[in-house]
Amino acid sequence: MTGPLVFAHQTLGQRVLFGSGLAAANVAEEVDRLRANSVMVITGGHDADFAFRLAHQIKAALTYDEVAPHVPIEKAEKARAAAKEYDVDLVVCVGGGSAIGLAKAIALTSRVPIIAVPTTYAGSEATNVWGITEASRKTTGVDDCVLPLTVIYDAELTLSLPPELSVASGLNALAHCVDSLWAPRADPLNAAMASEGIRALASGLLALKADPSNLQGREQTQYGAYLSAVAFASAGSGIHHKICHVLGGAYDLPHAQTHATVLPYVLAFNAPYAPEASARIAAALGHNDAVQGLNQLRRALNAPVALRNYGLKETDLPEATDLILRAIPSSNPRPVTQQDLLTLLQAAWSGAEVLS
Ligand code: NAD
Repeated sequence: MTGPLVFAHQTLGQRVLFGSGLAAANVAEEVDRLRANSVMVITGGHDADFAFRLAHQIKAALTYDEVAPHVPIEKAEKARAAAKEYDVDLVVCVGGGSAIGLAKAIALTSRVPIIAVPTTYAGSEATNVWGITEASRKTTGVDDCVLPLTVIYDAELTLSLPPELSVASGLNALAHCVDSLWAPRADPLNAAMASEGIRALASGLLALKADPSNLQGREQTQYGAYLSAVAFASAGSGIHHKICHVLGGAYDLPHAQTHATVLPYVLAFNAPYAPEASARIAAALGHNDAVQGLNQLRRALNAPVALRNYGLKETDLPEATDLILRAIPSSNPRPVTQQDLLTLLQAAWSGAEVLS
């Protein structure tokens, strides 16, 4: 960034423990350090074996697996009641954004601390943002009490994430980085994290695409995912997140695939109006053009290409345009008209070629 450096930046306090094969030992150490007496282990489902062994090892008071996407209020209330019944003083959640979201819903009303053990690249573990869905409408909010006290990354737990979902989830993280560059609280510190996040995600995703059992590739992707989430939590939601939030919430589209599909269209739309962000993205991707660099990466990864493949109907697009337009932040580098947005959504819906 050029010009005088004047900005206000908030850094969220969190302990991060990183290491393949170390999750169980690191969780046990944290439970001791925090002197927890009654631990609730939440598991997203797929990694139930690990979570049940972990619960046994740390003598958890209860293991809970009623996790559902987007945290339906009924599930949140049931989990809160279970936590209360067992007088829980620490929640350990093992899983993707849905499992972490349930832990956050408990923390929001009880202030119980969270240890997060993420198994996707969605990044919820590093944000103070919560989300709860009631009557098909997802409400989100910000509260520091939902920020996990400790995040424990163990790339071995991501080996079971299928390659297609790994790619989509990693591109979800890459979208946090790109969108943070023009989000309302974009600043030089979160931009630096976004740059390194893009670089790490691109190299990690290419390695895991070539060989899904490549642990180093998965470590790089996790490292990039953490940076992406810190950048996103600090900079806030830009146009890309506003689009995906509406599409996911109102039309029940899958989270990671929606982000992965929409990102190149948002980048191509904003890039001519955001030269500094474009140069940063291009450099991080090792290309001389941001849009072409992202296109090249997406081709190599065989990334998701069209929203119509995920259940969105073409007739939904005008309504979606109206819903999104109201939410676009004034920080967006390019003014956005209703027609611009409809054109962007139509292209993302059909999977049209992205031109730079
Ligand atoms: P998810 O948690 O729903 O997981 C997707 C699927 O992958 C699930 O079926 C899950 O069981 C499975 N899975 C997870 N880890 C696996 C593994 N290692 N191996 C095999 N299968 C595995 O999806 P997500 O993309 O991680 O999270 C999406 C949710 O998180 C959305 O509700 C989104 O809004 C929320 N989110 C919130 C924030 C925030 O800051 N609050 C940030 C990012 C995402």
